[in-house]
Amino acid sequence: GAAMAKSKFEYVRDFEADDTCLPHCWVVVRLDGRNFHRFAEKHNFAKPNDSRALHLMTKCAQTVMDELEDIVIAYGQSDEYSFVFKRKSNWFKRRASKFMTHVASQFASSYVFYWRDYFEDQPLLYPPGFDGRVVLYPSNQALKDYLSWRQADCHINNLYNTVFWALVQQSGLTPAQAQERLQGTLAADKNEILFSEFNVNYNNEPLMNRKGTVLIWQKVVEVKTKEIKLPVEMEGKTMTVTRTRTRPVPLHCDIIGDAFWKEHPEILD
Ligand code: ATP
Ligand code: ATP
Ligand code: MG
Ligand code: MG
Ligand code: MG
Ligand code: MG
Repeated sequence: GAAMAKSKFEYVRDFEADDTCLPHCWVVVRLDGRNFHRFAEKHNFAKPNDSRALHLMTKCAQTVMDELEDIVIAYGQSDEYSFVFKRKSNWFKRRASKFMTHVASQFASSYVFYWRDYFEDQPLLYPPGFDGRVVLYPSNQALKDYLSWRQADCHINNLYNTVFWALVQQSGLTPAQAQERLQGTLAADKNEILFSEFNVNYNNEPLMNRKGTVLIWQKVVEVKTKEIKLPVEMEGKTMTVTRTRTRPVPLHCDIIGDAFWKEHPEILD
């Protein structure tokens, strides 16, 4: 078509900064809930782990993976989720602001959209927000270390929170007393408190709480019930149709060791 005439205002576009992500790097977008300490309190989250909230976070992350291009793996825990775009992605010409804002807005709108499916009796009291950041990792090792760092963080926080809330909910300590009791304790000490005082073997706590959630693309067989058009005498008959689809599937496994990456070499291809 004919070149469009430029207005005299057009020059302002040149003020936009180039935020192209370095080629060949893994692009990671991490979101984190804004002031979720308060949000959890106001919405009566179970402590230390509200599974409704964790499942809702994962539903939002699956929606992000379904709606946006080129995400190969995601990892979530607490009020955060990380999304990894494939090295060679050229989505939006690799503009960091496009990656980050599309992830954050799709995630936040999904959180509100799907809230009721997970929090049946708990009304959503105000619109939640999420911050986002983009980090580039130039090697597979650095990307794996990034994900290991988030899962290690999940472990450390969850072990602490599990003992902390046992002391508060079962031993009647005030939050300040529980905090003081845990001051300077090592992982082994926390495991010991759980075991000797609460008869809890930390290793038997739910995997989702201990490991967080990994989302990877896997083939799943979907069974659908379909209405079929038939002659009047057989009206209202249904039939089931099965098909295989590639979906973002949640796993609660270790991603720090080599086993996960050996089992799923296609992720880092
Ligand atoms: P910021 O805006 O700086 O991120 P924040 O209050 O969100 O502040 P975080 O460090 O992100 O602080 O911590 C998130 C908090 O949200 C946790 O401390 C926890 O209290 C709460 N939280 C998040 N998810 C859950 C959950 N599934 N169950 C219970 N509490 C949760
Ligand atoms: P992209 O994802 O690239 O932004 P887009 O389809 O959103 O694609 P835009 O250039 O942002 O493209 O244009 C927004 C389009 O949305 C308009 O072309 C118009 O069709 C539609 N639209 C937005 N607001 C209104 C409105 N208030 N009434 C009618 N149509 C609207
Ligand atoms: Mg924070
Ligand atoms: Mg937060
Ligand atoms: Mg957080
Ligand atoms: Mg638009």
